[in-house]
Amino acid sequence: MLWTKGRCLIVVVVFWALWIILGIILANTWNMKWYAGALWGFFLGPFGLGIMYLMYYSSQKSNLVRCPKCQEPVQKGAVICPHCRSDLSPSGPSDVIGAQ
Ligand SMILES: [Zn+2]
Repeated sequence: MLWTKGRCLIVVVVFWALWIILGIILANTWNMKWYAGALWGFFLGPFGLGIMYLMYYSSQKSNLVRCPKCQEPVQKGAVICPHCRSDLSPSGPSDVIGAQ
């Protein structure tokens, strides 16, 4: 099989396009801008998608806090712990009185 320069170029472009499309799809599922995924895929290919995953993972981690009652990870800003159903609202009754 003869690999001409043109055929090589087509294969490279098709693979490149695949990373860009995959980047857009992953950006969509990870709540990122679609063009960010396209750029990561375009410039860094699989490495860019790996970096995107790390960014997503760290952002997910930073959105979690530990429930003081059961020590389970809970979304930041949650009012009620989904694990033990305890009240997690930051401003208790005493805080409201102190603020006035
Ligand atoms: Zn809990």
